Amino acid sequence: PARTRFAPSPTGYLHLGSLRTALFNYLLAKRTGGQFLLRIEDTDQKRTIPGAEQRLYDDLRWAGLHWDEGPVVGGPYGPYRQSERTALYRTHADELISNGHAYRCFCSSERLDSFARHRSQAGLPSGYDRKCADISAEESEDRASKGESHVVRLKVEGYPMFKDLVYGKTGQNKTNSSKLDLIDRVYDDPILLKSDGHPTYHLANVVDDHCMKITHVIRGTEWMPSTPMHMALYNAFKWTPPQFGHVPLLVDKSGQKLSKRNADIDLSSFKDQQGIFAATLVNFAALLGWSHSQKSDVFSLEELEQIFNLKITRGNTVVAFEKLWFLQKAHAQRFAATGGPQFDEMANRVCAAVEESHSMDNLTSILQGRTLFEYIAPLLHADAKTYTTAEEFTKRNSTFFTSQLDRPSYTPTASSASTEAPTVPMQALHTAAAALTLVPPAHWTIETHRANITSYDGSDAVTIPSETADVVNPDKIFKKELYHYLRWALSASAPGPGIPEIMTILGQEETLRRIQDAKA
Ligand code: GLU
Repeated sequence: PARTRFAPSPTGYLHLGSLRTALFNYLLAKRTGGQFLLRIEDTDQKRTIPGAEQRLYDDLRWAGLHWDEGPVVGGPYGPYRQSERTALYRTHADELISNGHAYRCFCSSERLDSFARHRSQAGLPSGYDRKCADISAEESEDRASKGESHVVRLKVEGYPMFKDLVYGKTGQNKTNSSKLDLIDRVYDDPILLKSDGHPTYHLANVVDDHCMKITHVIRGTEWMPSTPMHMALYNAFKWTPPQFGHVPLLVDKSGQKLSKRNADIDLSSFKDQQGIFAATLVNFAALLGWSHSQKSDVFSLEELEQIFNLKITRGNTVVAFEKLWFLQKAHAQRFAATGGPQFDEMANRVCAAVEESHSMDNLTSILQGRTLFEYIAPLLHADAKTYTTAEEFTKRNSTFFTSQLDRPSYTPTASSASTEAPTVPMQALHTAAAALTLVPPAHWTIETHRANITSYDGSDAVTIPSETADVVNPDKIFKKELYHYLRWALSASAPGPGIPEIMTILGQEETLRRIQDAKA
């Protein structure tokens, strides 16, 4: 079983890229029967955004990524907020100092700045010359105990190779002293503990992954350059490192890194502004760089938990937002098929959009005692495969929410029934209306209409209720054409649900009223 973690810094909100990282970690844990941890990496307090932590919790819960250990829920290796673990990092830095893998550096910022300046002027990479590495242990202790300002640096001897779960064997496999150039001998020797006693990301991250018994680290490729150094830290501590898998960068179609400008916006824009379902966004994020061998791309979170693996593509992942809308429709259809809270939520969204865009006075006569929800639910069932957002759905089906239909004009002389403005043999509508009037209200159901629709054109009397059996159709209108005329009369030829569905949703009274209105 894998123990994985998502380790965001509360310096921003969750966006598509970080959601994917969290999701992959979550799925790997679930797939293997392990645990998914949440750890807040708030060592850089200056960059922390107030409220960001709470938003992270809300967004992760919205997506269904509940953590087994972490803030709020607790767990055996807490606290799970790095700002509450400072003493632990200091102890570990001390341990490295005493075994010679780290040293205190008392260099002033002036010295370091001028050193850096002189190197950059010479066009050389930055680094540190290890001036403080040779200070004796006694002197170092003494100066530190007297309160002299210092940082703690890792004495990097070399960078071990590591096998990345996505990228394969990687790393530099070089020694740290190889950067000998004409001016100085420089070393990376990264800072572990800052002069204010707080850890850097590297120290805190490695100590926590070890102490929290993390087995797999899935994170963005932007962290790959840090991994050799993390490996060096694991070696210095004589700890077994977790396995690392770096997931590729998300880019737009022109190859640009996703940013606010090209839609790698925070989650609330997907969920609140665009009305994307959690299931859709999770499904979409899962497909970013992950390949599977299933027949369909449509998965719920629970299904992903069953099939996820680390078959992740190397190289940048192009994010195509058309796919997002395809998945949204697919999930809307699934909700309509299964019902339940997700369907109710979708229907409530449509209710709100209708109330926003249509006057309720107008609706009252159409609703005929039903609530808006009761009216909308069957409409949503009938047309869910087209659902993208509540607003779009409402617009597409707007003829359901107004009694004043704007029908394309009817030209009695035209003969084709397939043109935009259909020729409507009034006789056909007349016949249908006569038949429909006779359907007993209790039989006004989709089943009746499906069974009888041919009888409404008089061409077939097999399933016709006895009450309507004597209605004849002198013009022998065929079903397809009748559908065409009825669509014109009932919904101004707008695309949408089928005729039996439309008649059922509108109800007998409104159906007949619309046919009369069309004939007038
Ligand atoms: N705190 C880092 C971040 O914000 C975590 C990187 C990692 O997963 O190691 O992305």
